[in-house]
Amino acid sequence: MSWLLFFRVFIIHCGLIDTLLGRREQQQQLVWLGVGGCRLSFSDTADAARDWGRIKRLSPAGVLYPESVDDIVSLVRTAGLSTSNLTVAAKGRGHSINGQAQAPEGIVIEMSTMRGIKVMPEGDADCPGPFVDAAGGELWIDVLKATLKEGLTPRSWTDYLYLSVGGTLSNAGISGQTFRYGPQINNVLQLEVVTGKGELVICSPSKQPELFFAVLGGLGQFGIITNARIVLESAPQQVRWIRAMYTDFQSFTRDQEMLISQPSTTETFDYVEGFVIINNDNPFNGWKSVPFAPEQLNRSMIPEDTGSVMYYIELTKGFDSIDIHAMEQNVEKMLAPLNYIQSLRFTTDVSYFQFLNRIHDVELSLSSQGLWDVPHPWLNLFIPRSSILEFNTKVFKQLINQDFSGPILVYPVNRDKWDNRASAVIPEESMFYLVAFLRNALPSSGPSLKNQMDDNSKILSMCHDISCKQYFPTYNNPAQWEQHFGSQWQNIVELKQTFDPHAILAPGQNIFQRNQ
Ligand code: FAD
Repeated sequence: MSWLLFFRVFIIHCGLIDTLLGRREQQQQLVWLGVGGCRLSFSDTADAARDWGRIKRLSPAGVLYPESVDDIVSLVRTAGLSTSNLTVAAKGRGHSINGQAQAPEGIVIEMSTMRGIKVMPEGDADCPGPFVDAAGGELWIDVLKATLKEGLTPRSWTDYLYLSVGGTLSNAGISGQTFRYGPQINNVLQLEVVTGKGELVICSPSKQPELFFAVLGGLGQFGIITNARIVLESAPQQVRWIRAMYTDFQSFTRDQEMLISQPSTTETFDYVEGFVIINNDNPFNGWKSVPFAPEQLNRSMIPEDTGSVMYYIELTKGFDSIDIHAMEQNVEKMLAPLNYIQSLRFTTDVSYFQFLNRIHDVELSLSSQGLWDVPHPWLNLFIPRSSILEFNTKVFKQLINQDFSGPILVYPVNRDKWDNRASAVIPEESMFYLVAFLRNALPSSGPSLKNQMDDNSKILSMCHDISCKQYFPTYNNPAQWEQHFGSQWQNIVELKQTFDPHAILAPGQNIFQRNQ
């Protein structure tokens, strides 16, 4: 089908006037297709060609602003009829690094118009416990606000909440709660999905499970998530938030591993993350970034024999105001076996919402200094536990220098909290670490984007020898993807054939090539 015919068919699907067709000059402007129908724009494509990474910029032919699931179904079905190699990418908030939500010369679906959150505190006949139904384009921050009105909350989070439900579920969605509840993809009861064939399907672990698990962590390859049903639990009012510093990497990792290996009771922390910081006073990733108030820490408190890097563990425990005394006793008991530097422990109490939304304050501060919308050559890795000490010696200590920009996260998670039926790729070992180099490339100072990307290549070549896996993987050809998926590859190829046989969806991942 030619381009012209594609748009004619699509517009008819949208129930719209097709007299606009063929008027190329109108395609240069913002084109509204129809009354009360979907909007397809051929001119405001700049946002859809950009993402958080600011590294790749591939323009689509058009952007769809759907007003209903039917608009998405129509687009995907029509693209399937097209012989013009047309592709379709759902874009959550474009917080990808390497163009994963872009569709060169295809159509980007701006999922932010797909809204709707319904909290079910008592569940229903099919799902007896509390849950929330959230549209794929909703932001996690809005899901949190809606559920908190009922005193409820999702259990598993990302550090930053201005990410879309469909976007994080297409990856995994991890944070300091993952050790306990698994990634976000483990906390989904049901999905509504538009497959690459344009079929609208409700799936769950018991209904069409093949599609359900393919889509979770499936990098947008098998379907577009239009709605997700997410497990809820009671939300605490407040959290005790603790940061404890280390100079010794072995103690830092041993303590984290001990903390995430406890059986899940009231005597375990709710959230455990670790960070590498630089032994300087940089407010973003030096020791000044650790205390909750500047006066809590000064240079004289840092041990003299500290090397080029230090470490800290971040922990929280939720509580309600009336239980404060019991919570304090419990927290002290849980901290007692840890080997952090006793004088370098910092504590604060904040609301549960404030804690979960903590990165937004950083966003506001960096935005006001023009430091938020800059290139981000981020690298996220899953490192097997058995290699983390070697990784510290070869990478953290060698590569991280004084002008390293951005935070570095290092925290372990338990493999048995991940459902191995989902598509997300993780190492084989029973425990592995998330290591995230969240660097930014500032135009005026610090290492250039190219230098940082060269560093990433060096790290990746070292990782090759230790069976690590990329989180938010970036590869350019099927052979590399085959290696990434390992024994899952054949299954991924078969699932693609079943649910998106023409390889229409998420072309920015570069896994499959659009075919007729
Ligand atoms: P996009 O970047 O728009 O899309 C990502 C991929 O999913 C694309 O391939 C896209 O086509 C596909 N997609 C998007 N929506 C859908 C849908 N509805 N259905 C099917 N496919 C879809 N991640 C973590 O796990 N933990 C963190 O703590 C964390 N912190 C972050 C902090 C910041 C400041 C930023 C910028 C990102 C962070 N991320 C984190 C990464 C984030 O999870 C990814 O960027 C993820 O892609 C979600 O972003 P998004 O919603 O903008 O999706």
